[in-house]
Amino acid sequence: MSDFVPFAVPDIDESEIEAVVDALRSGWLSTGPKARAFEEEFAAALGGDVHAVAVNSATAGLHLALEALGIGPGDRVIVPTHTFTATAEVVRYVGADVVLADIDPSTYCIDVDDVRRKLSDRVRAIIPVHYAGMPCDMDRLLELARERNIAVVEDAAHAFPTRVGDKLVGTLESDCTVFSFYATKTITTGEGGMLVTRNDKIAKRARVMRLHGIDRDAFDRYRSERPGWYYEVVAPGFKYNLTDVAAAIGLQQLHKSQRFFERRTALARQYDEALAGLPLRLPPRPVSGQHAWHLYVVQLTDSARIGRDELIAGMYERGIGCSVHYIPLHLQPYWRDRYGLSPADFPNSQRLFERCVSLPLYTRMTDADQRRVIEALWALLG
Ligand SMILES: *Cc1c(COP(=O)(O)O)cnc(C)c1O
Repeated sequence: MSDFVPFAVPDIDESEIEAVVDALRSGWLSTGPKARAFEEEFAAALGGDVHAVAVNSATAGLHLALEALGIGPGDRVIVPTHTFTATAEVVRYVGADVVLADIDPSTYCIDVDDVRRKLSDRVRAIIPVHYAGMPCDMDRLLELARERNIAVVEDAAHAFPTRVGDKLVGTLESDCTVFSFYATKTITTGEGGMLVTRNDKIAKRARVMRLHGIDRDAFDRYRSERPGWYYEVVAPGFKYNLTDVAAAIGLQQLHKSQRFFERRTALARQYDEALAGLPLRLPPRPVSGQHAWHLYVVQLTDSARIGRDELIAGMYERGIGCSVHYIPLHLQPYWRDRYGLSPADFPNSQRLFERCVSLPLYTRMTDADQRRVIEALWALLG
């Protein structure tokens, strides 16, 4: 169909195209001055006072965070089941084990009571996910983590700009926060991510490990006395650096991020108003805080006359792309079989999965596009 309303499209215009051409003409394609500027401007957007370490994906950033925290074999990390597999796979990268927790039906984020039930001496960290851009109950989670001396790494892939109370995610008291700039996220570099921390040691370790374990400080220290080709490898690091070409896109996206946020919020409000009256549970929203509206997830109620799969198929027939976030990890073969999991262990996530639909939400969506989505929903469910 020529006028298909897709689930999501990146918002790229001439400014990103010019910035990329500029980066290409500069002759510096890999990590250089633009990646550095992107880190500085991203940290400034969070209010300064944090280290921002640019990486080539949020998955890489989460991996570096766990590595810097010294998590390894024998350790356990608690992760919500209702997330993308990247949140959990990084725990396996460092040889630790995943403990899945259910979600709180009032936020769709990790259930702090279930986290408490699943704590043991071996649990070293918790990775909450600000699902859809909705803030987790960070006050209770951070209090619990502090009480038990457990690290917190926020998966903020959906959460730029989410606020807990009036504080932006990235500025809370957790050990580390990791943002994603994947193509569908609220700002994008195509592929990319940012590890944010107030902890000097974590930032230093992440900077060394994102580029082959090369110690830049040693390099700088000796530069005056050593020839230009000299460097020191202090660990078997990774190849997780962000390119200047990607950072050039990121800088432009960052400059537009307030407008992007305002458009997403306006679209979410318009959905709220137009969908009231349908057999749908509208997305939860923060009591105090700010939703980033990365996703607009509705849940079919028991009175709906069709099921979730039928609704998505009906929308597709009407030229509208929808999605499901997520098939929970407890249903995925690897996680299910490795840890012997069943849906009965995660009733809230299972219930959400069976009924949820993510509606199209992207900044280039016009009011006319959105009206088509709303009319199709009324035709199928009204
Ligand atoms: C997108 C996403 C990731 C991974 O981000 P990448 O930048 O693609 O590595 C991790 N967690 C969640 C919840 C995500 O949606």
